[in-house]
Amino acid sequence: MDKLINGLHHITSFASSPQKNVDFYAGILGLRLVKKTVNFDAPDIYHLYYGNEMGAPGTILTFFPYDGIAKGRKGNGQVTVTSFSIPENSLEYWMRRLDKFNINYHKPVQHFNQESSVYFEDYDSMGIELVANNKDKRPGFSYGQIPQEYAVKGFYGITIAQSNAQATTAILTEEMEHKVIVEEGNRSRLASLDQPGGYVDIISDPKTPRGLGGGGIVHHVAFATPNDGTQLEFRERLLKKGYLQPTPVLDRQYFHSIYFREPGGVLFEVATNDIGFTIDEEKEQLGQELKLPEWEEPNRKRIEEGLVPVEVNIEKFRD
Ligand code: ZN
Repeated sequence: MDKLINGLHHITSFASSPQKNVDFYAGILGLRLVKKTVNFDAPDIYHLYYGNEMGAPGTILTFFPYDGIAKGRKGNGQVTVTSFSIPENSLEYWMRRLDKFNINYHKPVQHFNQESSVYFEDYDSMGIELVANNKDKRPGFSYGQIPQEYAVKGFYGITIAQSNAQATTAILTEEMEHKVIVEEGNRSRLASLDQPGGYVDIISDPKTPRGLGGGGIVHHVAFATPNDGTQLEFRERLLKKGYLQPTPVLDRQYFHSIYFREPGGVLFEVATNDIGFTIDEEKEQLGQELKLPEWEEPNRKRIEEGLVPVEVNIEKFRD
């Protein structure tokens, strides 16, 4: 049977300043801004999508950035770290680059005695990790300010914090085709695909307070499903369980989505792989224009007037 869940699709967070967001993720980390649109549920704020060249599933980090948002607090019941995959010998390069832009980072560590990773936070204290590894066959993307040989390739995985990992582990293994791959102390690693782009680490620590939503906090994590058919099949599976109550399928323009809250409190989404960001822009132009869903086009003038323009300014972020 084909798998219904194939690793991560995207991760979505709240953030403050839209321009700082573009500077950090496109400028410093070198991700491509692949789509500039608005929050479909609150069209007066941006929805910015970053990824590799095409914004492939498993590379897409998205933000709802707006000035004045109250800062959240990382803690249990949340995705607390978003990990990106970088080439095996690029950690030194990245530490120099973080130094250059005055970003503090922790000393490199190895989880499960595997790849070395370095942890730091963005300007809203969102937890980010770069994981150096030789398993990732994806090409990565650079605007030119980062040598291609060091460029971020997409997600490595996520870390979820819980007071107790049991319920989240159960939903992932019993309903979402994940296996526990390795465990060490209070950290376990699960995956539907055992490769970068699919890892879900769960840390259990009853002493950590519960997290609070807000700026710098992941709002939800989306897992990838091939198409509408597999999404509906997966939704049926959840409905049979009764207690998970997935939403109806929602049209997110670049994918179709269902959402449900896992028992530990993290909002999960399952998003389809087969539409993508070239549905309303050419590959070369991705991210340049403000794109609106058809139903918001009549409001374009008012929406544009309410948004502060943002730009990708690469010159500022050369080595
Ligand atoms: Zn989403």
